[in-house]
Amino acid sequence: MTQHFINGRHVAGRTGETMAVLAPATGEEFTRIACGTADDIDDAVKAAQAAYEGAWGKLTAAERGRLIAKLALKVQDHFDELARIEAQDTGKPMAQARADIEATARYFEFYGGAADKVHGHVIPFMNGYSVSVVHEPHGVTGHILPWNYPAQMFGRSLTASLAMGNAVVLKPAEEACQTALRLAVLASEVGFPDGAINIVTGRGHEAGAALSAHPGIGFMSFTGSPEVGKMVQKACAENLIGCTLELGGKSPQIVFDDADFDAAVPIVCKAIVQNTGQTCSAGSRVLVQKNIYDAFVGAVARQFSKLRAGTPEMDLDCGPVINARQQGRVQSFIDQAREQGIPVLAEGQIAQGVPNGGFYVTPTLFGPVPRGNRLEQEEVFGPVLSAFPFEDESDAIRLANATAYGLVAGIWTGNGGRQQRVAKSVRAGQVFINGYGAGGGIELPFGGTGKSGHGREKGFMALEEFAVTKTIVHKHG
Ligand code: NAP
Ligand code: MG
Repeated sequence: MTQHFINGRHVAGRTGETMAVLAPATGEEFTRIACGTADDIDDAVKAAQAAYEGAWGKLTAAERGRLIAKLALKVQDHFDELARIEAQDTGKPMAQARADIEATARYFEFYGGAADKVHGHVIPFMNGYSVSVVHEPHGVTGHILPWNYPAQMFGRSLTASLAMGNAVVLKPAEEACQTALRLAVLASEVGFPDGAINIVTGRGHEAGAALSAHPGIGFMSFTGSPEVGKMVQKACAENLIGCTLELGGKSPQIVFDDADFDAAVPIVCKAIVQNTGQTCSAGSRVLVQKNIYDAFVGAVARQFSKLRAGTPEMDLDCGPVINARQQGRVQSFIDQAREQGIPVLAEGQIAQGVPNGGFYVTPTLFGPVPRGNRLEQEEVFGPVLSAFPFEDESDAIRLANATAYGLVAGIWTGNGGRQQRVAKSVRAGQVFINGYGAGGGIELPFGGTGKSGHGREKGFMALEEFAVTKTIVHKHG
């Protein structure tokens, strides 16, 4: 789709410039998108402002919720189509694409139901006064999203804002915007007023930067890299508005010697290979107590060596990564670790018959990785798992907290006291005990600390981010 979606219709960009979109599975161009500019962003923000002051802003919370819930049903009607588009655009295996569309519908279902359940409260104050606290929309919110889970991100970031009554402008990742453009059309079809949802495609430093700096935006939601997150926050500072930043992680799985091996091994593997490692909450470090290190890591290695990467249709454990740049980046982590002599414990395979031009990488397990190594400190965003031995509980906590990130942690132990102590001590926005990952986890507040960003998405907490609290003090006449 080579056009933006502004004010309820497809429009060509002001400059008419377009850029190629490649299918990661083949490396071949399959469509083009419009290269949005500051003028296109301005058109989109104005359309959103008009919707907020007009038809969209006039709806009651229940009416907004009903529209969002209708979109959930509409997504189910277009399930296979959306899953196919997502798989082509991102290269993900069909099973993953289907799971993503299911989660997207869940976001619409959840926030559709939540829209009329955000209630204010009354504060008992001095005699002769009534005080109420209400939650109002920001007006227009801006959303800059990545390519790893494009449809889910639409559900997560935009829907919470829409539920609160904001009109939205989205700049999706240039690598993957097809499902977002389709979802905006489906939203129109179920009755969203023109201008409630606007999408401007194009390059981050152009359309994205213009969106984050636009004075008509009341709040920004960003998901992506820490480097760009900083730029977005600086742009927000100029306009004195708030933002949520979801910037990825280096999340540890901490395995103690009393862990249930059979339960932990497959989940430790899945947590890093899901979506080919391109998940902000990927469990990219496995920390294992020294006395079981060889046995546990050996069991993970046996599973890891069976992993295969292929096209969406092959529907294997992994797909390609998103583009040639990410392929080169992930490969450079692997090559450098090998040059440094870090042992390769297991390698998966790239399936026979994948197209030559696709962006495939071999899933790789390294260990023991020296503390302080790049593989410990930097987000690879690919199917690369690093193993580290630890001595005891305090060493495990030290190691878990040894990065600047703080998004998610997994704790594997049967000891109840240790479960609680470690959960309290790890720096993370979400902690899983004897499990990992939430399969979407729509209801569960999610977000990071430190280099992983700030603010919370998902659940009811996201609704608070997309609202302004107003305290109304009424002195009785
Ligand atoms: P990125 O550059 O941070 O991209 C995220 C979004 O920001 C995209 O929509 C991007 O547009 C936009 N953007 C880029 N420059 C911008 C600017 N100056 N102002 C405003 N918006 C801008 O991430 P990436 O380059 O795609 O991936 C790099 C690394 O980021 C990955 O290797 C991974 O470590 C991390 N990452 C994390 C997540 C996560 O879920 N937390 C997701 C994706 C990536 P364009 O697509 O047009 O560049
Ligand atoms: Mg793409």
